[in-house]
Amino acid sequence: MMTRQEQIKALEREYALKRENDEADRDRRVQSAAARFPDIGALLAEGRDIVRESARMLSGGIANASEAAREMRLRAEDRDKRLAKALKAHGLAEDELSLRPDCPVCMDRGYIENTYPLKRCACFENELSRRMSMESAREQSFASFDLSLFPDTVPEGAGMSQRAVMDRVRRFLRDYAERFPDNDKPNIMLMGKSGLGKTFLLNCVAKALRDKGVPVLQVTAYRMFEAMRRRHRGMDEGRDAFDELIEAPCLILDDLGSEPMLNNVTIEYLFILLNERQLAGRPILAATNLSMSELKGHYNERIASRLLDVHSGVVITLSGSDLRTGH
Ligand SMILES: [Zn+2]
Repeated sequence: MMTRQEQIKALEREYALKRENDEADRDRRVQSAAARFPDIGALLAEGRDIVRESARMLSGGIANASEAAREMRLRAEDRDKRLAKALKAHGLAEDELSLRPDCPVCMDRGYIENTYPLKRCACFENELSRRMSMESAREQSFASFDLSLFPDTVPEGAGMSQRAVMDRVRRFLRDYAERFPDNDKPNIMLMGKSGLGKTFLLNCVAKALRDKGVPVLQVTAYRMFEAMRRRHRGMDEGRDAFDELIEAPCLILDDLGSEPMLNNVTIEYLFILLNERQLAGRPILAATNLSMSELKGHYNERIASRLLDVHSGVVITLSGSDLRTGH
């Protein structure tokens, strides 16, 4: 178990690496654009000259420094405008020569520049608390499953109390983990509103599988989306996070449907993921707050039919009241 301090250290190293990758990625794009288009190369050289001259003026202590600084600023602005025009003329993206960080707020530094004491960015804080809760979630297990958390009253129109349903689902999933990978129906889809214990159930299965030595990759849909977006942009060389999603012997996917819907990315890559895993016979255990009809509308018929396929998987729908709020 990693302590909070260890998590912070590890995360800081990852951010430093991410930032280095961003910079290397930008440098490659800059070199490539300069090599292909001489006018862009000349504008880049002009930019470097302006920076050099400004530095010389600052250190030289010239007479009317503010007037000179103003002039340099105007030159820089003029050059930026011409560069933007040239990029457009060559059909290059507006940000072709800029960093493309995952987080535009901190530019993948993990902290806000020019703050004292250094203020951590929200992206860093979120990731840190996600990791801390992952650490404690790793301890959730069928053995520590507390059924008394679930109300034993029978909701209107239901045949069973929420507690009785949870008891059945718990036993079903415990059997599933025990039999793994010899399951008749290897895929599991947990459906139902938020707060019914879906993530908790997934954590229990993950723990049971890990305890018997199954390599489990457990991610939120948002992490899945990040892997898709990085693949789409060709941000990583070699085997990347999207390959890991495809190749993990057991993939547990939480909160499906909460990921951003990005054109040409979310639906396309989700289909590839589902298809590749199905062809290779690798199971997916997923949870979603969306209903069956919402899944079809949110993605499309092809994806929904794979997610809800009753020949290769079991769809479990939870109903009842939210454990956290009581509604
Ligand atoms: Zn950030």
